[in-house]
Amino acid sequence: MTNSAMATWIKQPAAVFTGNDADSSDGIVVRGNRIVELVGGGRAPETPVDNVFDASGRVLLPGLINGHHHFYQSLTRACPPALNKPLLGWLQSLYPIWANLDEAAVAVSTRLVMAELMLSGCTTTSDHHYLFNAALDQAIDIQAEAAAELGMRAVLTRGSMTVSVEDGGWPPRSITEPETTVLDESERLIRRYHDGAPHAMLQIALAPCAPLLVTPDLMRESARIARAHGVRLHTHLGETLDEDELCMSSFGMRPVDYLADVGWLADDVWLAHGIHFTHPEIERLGSAGVGVCHCPSSNMLLASGICPVNDLVSAGAPVGLGVDGSASNDSSNLMQEVRQALLVGRLRYGADSVSHESVLRLATRGTADLLARPELGELRPGAAADVALFGLDEARFSGHGDPLAALVRCGASRVSDLMIAGAWRVKGGELVDVDLDALIREHGRIADTLAEQAGSPARRSR
Ligand SMILES: [Zn+2]
Repeated sequence: MTNSAMATWIKQPAAVFTGNDADSSDGIVVRGNRIVELVGGGRAPETPVDNVFDASGRVLLPGLINGHHHFYQSLTRACPPALNKPLLGWLQSLYPIWANLDEAAVAVSTRLVMAELMLSGCTTTSDHHYLFNAALDQAIDIQAEAAAELGMRAVLTRGSMTVSVEDGGWPPRSITEPETTVLDESERLIRRYHDGAPHAMLQIALAPCAPLLVTPDLMRESARIARAHGVRLHTHLGETLDEDELCMSSFGMRPVDYLADVGWLADDVWLAHGIHFTHPEIERLGSAGVGVCHCPSSNMLLASGICPVNDLVSAGAPVGLGVDGSASNDSSNLMQEVRQALLVGRLRYGADSVSHESVLRLATRGTADLLARPELGELRPGAAADVALFGLDEARFSGHGDPLAALVRCGASRVSDLMIAGAWRVKGGELVDVDLDALIREHGRIADTLAEQAGSPARRSR
């Protein structure tokens, strides 16, 4: 860990992506939890430095930021009953397994996924946890404890589902909650954990799972509470064409009209997926400043469609990147998601309309904008000392002509080093102070238990 009074020069990387126009070709100086200086080409730092970190042969990036996830789903990756199904069938196959989630499952999946994300270059993550049952009412408290223990910056969203299958929704009643519980818990969690100051390590947002899975009242009341406390709002929207039809039959309007109707067409909202919008709807979202988190791997695996990233950006909507839950991705590797955004973006818009820089921007400044965190996602003096370094010594990079382009195009997947708020969390390719092998064993054991409880062939013998 870096002593907070010490200044460290991360010196002379092979390439730097700052996220802005500044020259940082000889590295950066960090002190405490901030970047204090960018070091331009051919000179030494002006700041007196105590330590030098030799970054030669490595690419330096602002820490990547994950805008959408469901950590608990890592316990049902590549789950046999859910393979090869679109969203609704996939969900219906998984609800019986997820219904038995308990505190130990949330604790181990949060730790495992945070470790996985950090190894992929991620320094800040959000999570969308909307699953509560009789054995699990403290999920966000457990996640907050895990984030503090691992030293990862987090935006934990208090999700909710209140409309069960009996009431025309999708989930079983055992994993839906009364609205009063959702609202009381939302207030409690904000008061207990939300830090609204710049450089906060933990923030809370409110996140009804999807408009079809809660009532209009809960959408409105969640917005009222969020705005009273200055926290952000998040939900799934525009993921499938089925959703358009169900929204018409349930509410008599399309999803974006519904968003406006419940007071969510505003710049304190970010949406997961955002695929199926008409052009006027894209213009409306952009004018209102509603953010969209692009989740390309999940969208491709569930065959949901392609997010119109360039159109949303042109319309003025903030667009960031997320891995989505580990039952639909099924990975939590944010650097690989950057490559997926490049590939699917080019398929939609053409090779000259999506670059390695533009997709890196999605995963850094883009997601920082979704979370309203101007101090993240960029290398500049005063910004957070959150950085990722990737080595280029693997076979996959050999022969490259441009280190930054190679990082994205050749498929980087694991950092050499990672710093969060000035503290090294990965060094030499290994997590600091985390026994990853033990964590994987415990995670696998709990995944087995969940599968057995559901009587599901969810885990084939290994
Ligand atoms: Zn999701």
